[in-house]
Amino acid sequence: MSMTLTRRQLVASAAGSLSALMVPVAVHANNLGSGPASVFSLGVASGYPQRHSVVLWTRLAMAPSRPDGGLMPADVPVRVVVASDRAMRNIVRSGYAVAESEWAHSVHVEVDGLQPNRWYWYQFEALGQHSEVGRTRTMPVDDQVPMRAGIASCQLFEAGHYAAYRQMVDDDPDLIVHLGDYIYEGTFGDAVRSLPIESSQTLSDYRERYTWYRSDPLLRRAHAHCPWLLVWDDHEVENDYAGDLSRYTDRRSFLRRRAAAYQAYYEHMPLPAAMRPGKQGPRIYGESHFGTLARWLLLDGRQYRHSMRCDGSDSGGGQPAYTDSCQALHDPERSFLGYSQRDWLLRQMPRRSAQWNLIAQPTVFAPTMIGRSARQWLHTDSWDGYPIERERILTAMADPDVTNPVVFSGDVHVFYANSLHRFDRPDSTPVGAEFVCGAITTPPPSERYVRMVRAARSSVRYANADSRGYVRISLNRERMLTDIMGVTDVRRADSPVRRLARFVLESGQSVPHPA
Ligand code: FE
Ligand code: CA
Repeated sequence: MSMTLTRRQLVASAAGSLSALMVPVAVHANNLGSGPASVFSLGVASGYPQRHSVVLWTRLAMAPSRPDGGLMPADVPVRVVVASDRAMRNIVRSGYAVAESEWAHSVHVEVDGLQPNRWYWYQFEALGQHSEVGRTRTMPVDDQVPMRAGIASCQLFEAGHYAAYRQMVDDDPDLIVHLGDYIYEGTFGDAVRSLPIESSQTLSDYRERYTWYRSDPLLRRAHAHCPWLLVWDDHEVENDYAGDLSRYTDRRSFLRRRAAAYQAYYEHMPLPAAMRPGKQGPRIYGESHFGTLARWLLLDGRQYRHSMRCDGSDSGGGQPAYTDSCQALHDPERSFLGYSQRDWLLRQMPRRSAQWNLIAQPTVFAPTMIGRSARQWLHTDSWDGYPIERERILTAMADPDVTNPVVFSGDVHVFYANSLHRFDRPDSTPVGAEFVCGAITTPPPSERYVRMVRAARSSVRYANADSRGYVRISLNRERMLTDIMGVTDVRRADSPVRRLARFVLESGQSVPHPA
């Protein structure tokens, strides 16, 4: 078998007994197939491409919204086929994986032996049915192939339709990068469409939530269109959590909730099997190379975080604070990334392995404090709450061996283009750039707040809280073009999506200029 099959993915059972695994169930409204229930109604996805390999994902479910997916608690063999053509005639790899009952019958198979810089098509077969055909690609070897990527964050299902993903597919990027808040554990704001489930607490709650999100055809299509890279933010688990600290509950019950949420996240994302949660939480931080042109450094901004409370109390939960009256801001031990991840990042950054260092992480990196004096207002949930660690990273970015660092952030539902400066001195030579990606659907903060940020911060070169949408980039050795893409009407799946702004960042420069 010319396929890397992951731990325990050895097929033991014979195909003859497969029909016994099926349970007759009514077709749930959430299963969008017409006719008999499709076992592949949650779609297909791929992720974490390398030069010769890529992760392929699906999850078997006859009745997706049921905790058991409508399947018996038994593992199911799944055939995986990879072809070099859309019609699936020229098959280059095939093999079997196992959809494990314990992991909601999800499949995470790493196909290797592929050619670099190629598009491939793939399909699953199980329980007598075929999945749709997904498309994916491998990464190039050198720096000669330009890269295009769509960058997404914050997609509260109830808040609107995913027109942004329709346009992203039309852009035909090499990669989609998600910066977190892929789901929201609860609901808020005005509903454009209904999501009739309670706030998620248990594993089956979180599973049900993912199946609702994946009932969206535009989201499923984006997953089937190209490989994804992902980092999570807070709402994949709970609003504003920090490490093992909740703002709402004690550590023990929060850790149960977090474990359930992390498991459901793994089950529904095209993550490598190495990211399966084990005794330790899953390690989702790491790097992904697009040849020697670009390197994505993917950061986990939640799992290892220290408390963000100014009073030093054992609680998660961001809070508004003033720089002169929050003791914790001045504590050099306090970490956003956790020590291991931070040290890893500081080691990796100067490694000159790519022309561009693209740092994908959840929350706003540049200072957005309001006010200019010693007494500035901030919210401790972003990097503003961890200024000493931020300064260490900015210092590392100033090293000439760290080529073209560009930070991509989400979380706040506002588009920003920023230059990054050491010691919060916007008049100094910038050491990097940041693009904050607005929300796919989640409502923005008040325009007044965003105007105040802009007024206080000359390093914020662009701010837009009017539109939902996404960011798309295209880059080569010489420059990166960044488009701010706005959805005209988030209440409509067929809404037009148009370019609101374009920035050019030349290699060696750190100020995004309007283009
Ligand atoms: Fe968000
Ligand atoms: Ca968030």
